[in-house]
Amino acid sequence: MALVLRPEAAVAAQTVMAQRAAFLLVVAAQEEQVVMLAALVAQASSSWSGNTMNIKKIEGHDKRKRRERGWVAIIIHHTGVGGREEISDDLWSKLYKNITNYLARKDKAYVSAHYTISREGEITEVIDPDKYESWHAGKSSSWSRFHRRVVSDWNRYSIGIELIGDGNLKVYSEKQYQALASLCKMLKKKWPSIMDIKGHEEIAPKRKNDPGMLFDWDKLLRYIYVS
Ligand SMILES: [Zn+2]
Repeated sequence: MALVLRPEAAVAAQTVMAQRAAFLLVVAAQEEQVVMLAALVAQASSSWSGNTMNIKKIEGHDKRKRRERGWVAIIIHHTGVGGREEISDDLWSKLYKNITNYLARKDKAYVSAHYTISREGEITEVIDPDKYESWHAGKSSSWSRFHRRVVSDWNRYSIGIELIGDGNLKVYSEKQYQALASLCKMLKKKWPSIMDIKGHEEIAPKRKNDPGMLFDWDKLLRYIYVS
């Protein structure tokens, strides 16, 4: 039997064909995106092969029992280098040791952080984020994606990471970015409620300027989200 399409049926058939063509275009575009993404990942991986987490632990003093059930942010800091112009490798490792010990000890300053990262990408856990808040944020106030409102007292909500260096004087080392990205990925996996990765300068903009003008946010976010 010959099939004769009525005019309205022909229009309907054309519409279906157009929809099918549009669908195929979307699929092709998505495939292209996947290929582009794969290429980006390959590019990132080729420049960054190490992803091993080797975290040294020490017992820091300045801490308080965690009050929230989960963390909602990671705050990145720099330690400062006392305005030093020239820093040898030897001095960098001394600074790392001294500053990490300073953040761990009991004193009147009452300042600490959960982690420090050396120029060589070594990570030390000073305060255990499973159990404690650390004293890294100070007076602070900023928008929280998790809460969808401005919150204050970011010590309560965030994990603090200190990079050895001064991001307004010197660029950070590649190993620091790699270690920081690995640490952020691990923490985000552990606490999916972490929705913000911010600089101290963003939660205390009038008081603080770290991790500084030379901190490469593009690089960090690529290492975390693309690779
Ligand atoms: Zn800071």
